[in-house]
Amino acid sequence: MKLCLLYGGKSAEHEVSLQTAKAVIHALDMNKFDIFPIFITKEGKWIQGPQITETIQDIKQLQFSNGGNELMPQSLNADYDMVFPLLHGPNGEDGTVQGLLEILNIPYVGNGVLASSAGMDKVVMKNIFAQAGLEQVEYVSFIRSTWDADREAAYKLVEEKIGYPSFVKPANLGSSVGISKCDNRDELEAAFEDAFRYDRKIIIEEGVIAREVEVGVLGNDELACSVAGEIVPKKEFYDYEAKYADDTTELMIPADIPEKSYDEIRKMAFMAYKALDCSGLARMDFFVTSDGRVLINEVNTMPGFTPASMFPLLWKNTGVPYPELIERLVDLGRQRYEEKQ
Ligand code: ADP
Ligand code: MG
Ligand code: MG
Repeated sequence: MKLCLLYGGKSAEHEVSLQTAKAVIHALDMNKFDIFPIFITKEGKWIQGPQITETIQDIKQLQFSNGGNELMPQSLNADYDMVFPLLHGPNGEDGTVQGLLEILNIPYVGNGVLASSAGMDKVVMKNIFAQAGLEQVEYVSFIRSTWDADREAAYKLVEEKIGYPSFVKPANLGSSVGISKCDNRDELEAAFEDAFRYDRKIIIEEGVIAREVEVGVLGNDELACSVAGEIVPKKEFYDYEAKYADDTTELMIPADIPEKSYDEIRKMAFMAYKALDCSGLARMDFFVTSDGRVLINEVNTMPGFTPASMFPLLWKNTGVPYPELIERLVDLGRQRYEEKQ
């Protein structure tokens, strides 16, 4: 099977994606897969490298700084049996690459255009969750021009509907980039300015004091749910630094939660997965409050995927080791493609 790996990318998660590519190559059985790499630079250039026939020691080998051909995305080789987009955030996890692959008629791993794009936009995602009857925090949303026309009215609306503490987030991002927790008007104003630097649309949510519990879902029509894992940040919230730069965050797998809460999470994860029309995989993130309420926070349609990331660890603890997880995802991608033909 000719498997093309797409990694790197223009988003803040560029480096993480390279780590993922290295780990995926390490895990793939080269008797079964011919691996063709495409590195997307931070500027968004696609660089095609030679077939990979041995394990990668240094991620520099994946960047083809001397050698490699620049490729126009639309000229991607249609002979690949499968493309695995190992990309996070805008331009990779948001349906754009998936749309290109649909047009080129190349099977790919993971979510389709709709789930990817709806999952990337926190406002659209939460509207869909609301429509599916899923419990979640209160939220409001603004586009930049509305805010700019009457900032005072925007802040007043947030204070009436949401209050403090509140979380201000760019609508279309991940990795906690541009997210602030606000306890008063000054912080709220600064948080709006900051979030609008990243996106023309932002979301403001009611802040909850809760444990953060996540599950992995695998499947197309028939779904499987992993054990739950808990994120235990040692700081105020799970921000960008805690995710990538420091080691202060602990992952507890399986999460120490009552069976009743796990059952609720599993049920809600499947409802959310179906409501967004996910396929392949997703990581579903929840808040569990001290009085046992379960609220859905978000879906990640291409969750962190290094062997040390939550999603692969959840599956490892559910009895699906990393190499098998990758093969299952490839199979699911093929099934989905065949069903559409
Ligand atoms: P991202 O897609 O960037 O991961 P999240 O919505 O998951 O964005 O927010 C990042 C982190 O911020 C969460 O993991 C959590 O620690 C904190 N957080 C986000 N929203 C809330 C909220 N409404 N109440 C409390 N904490 C929140
Ligand atoms: Mg996210
Ligand atoms: Mg998150």
